Amino acid sequence: MMAGPLDAVSRARGALQGFEPYDPAFSATRINLSANENTHPMPASYAKALADACAAPLNRYPDPMANGLRDVLAQRHGVARECVIVGNGGDELLFNLLFTFGGEGRTLVTCPPDFSEYALFAQMTDTRHVAVWRDGADWSIDADALVSAARDAALVFLTSPNNPTGDVVPHALVRRLLDETDALVLVDEAYVEFAPEGTSVVPWVAQDPRLMVLRTLSKAFGLAGLRCGYLVADPAVVDMLGAIRQIYSVDVLCQSVATAAVRSRDALVPVVADIVAERERLALSLSRVKGVTVWPSAANFVLVRLDRASVVRQRLRDEHSILVRDFSYAPGLEGCLRITVGTHEENESVVSALKAILEGE
Ligand code: PMP
Repeated sequence: MMAGPLDAVSRARGALQGFEPYDPAFSATRINLSANENTHPMPASYAKALADACAAPLNRYPDPMANGLRDVLAQRHGVARECVIVGNGGDELLFNLLFTFGGEGRTLVTCPPDFSEYALFAQMTDTRHVAVWRDGADWSIDADALVSAARDAALVFLTSPNNPTGDVVPHALVRRLLDETDALVLVDEAYVEFAPEGTSVVPWVAQDPRLMVLRTLSKAFGLAGLRCGYLVADPAVVDMLGAIRQIYSVDVLCQSVATAAVRSRDALVPVVADIVAERERLALSLSRVKGVTVWPSAANFVLVRLDRASVVRQRLRDEHSILVRDFSYAPGLEGCLRITVGTHEENESVVSALKAILEGE
């Protein structure tokens, strides 16, 4: 055989052709407000609990189901251990949901603009994807259109608060989906700690076996690097996902640190409160910059629209060493940049940099 260049793409399954490695468009900058991380310094007691938890023994395999971590998460939400499953970030659970309940002949319904991984994972798993687009002005969802699309669906994914638009899904819409369709309904609450009290639908899971709620430690808990997400769902869903999961995807360090973080969560209350207060200040300051439109947000980021968004993003990076996320290429998000809420100083910096660029100060 001649040893020519290997064409791995044509050897891959059809559904996997045309994919590119995920590129968060990261560059090293003084201020990084591009990935919705928690940039606040952590309280000393929280940091110490996490550091102590890093002493976990690494010569042993992890507990495949992470029962110790499941127990503290179950306790946090007032549910049984059987209602919780953990994953290597929320991403793994999103993939596994489509791998398990999607696939050929099944449909996922989403409401874009939303988290781009939903559509990617649907494609990878040969799941048909139906998009019910949000209103381009206020991002609201056409409830009748969604319910009607969901009647034939295996899965519906809703994001509350939504990334990148920042709005919360009305409870009445979740209720309608559960009452009027037979779909499994996922509410992705990755950012819910930043939303008003009572936003989460976790308390509904006990009565609604088709409702599943995704949470993560990547945002409010400041642990994006740890890779820990979890699902609160009916025990039947948890059992199914438990049976197909990569057995050791949540490693010993992750289980140990995540358990300490969830136990120490009270220390985060002032941090989250500060991010919420900063979000309101940031949104107001941005709305006063000439040429900037800001949408209200219940998450730890704000979405803005402005002219020549890509150029502005590049100038923020190159002239001010501030990184924000460019969504202006994405359908429905023309002219949009997403700015993570940082510390007070970081937020002041991004506002004055934008002023300098747009108002020429
Ligand atoms: N859902 C949404 C809406 C997100 O924005 C993210 C992260 N960007 C995730 C889920 C997954 O987060 P992780 O894998 O870090 O838990």
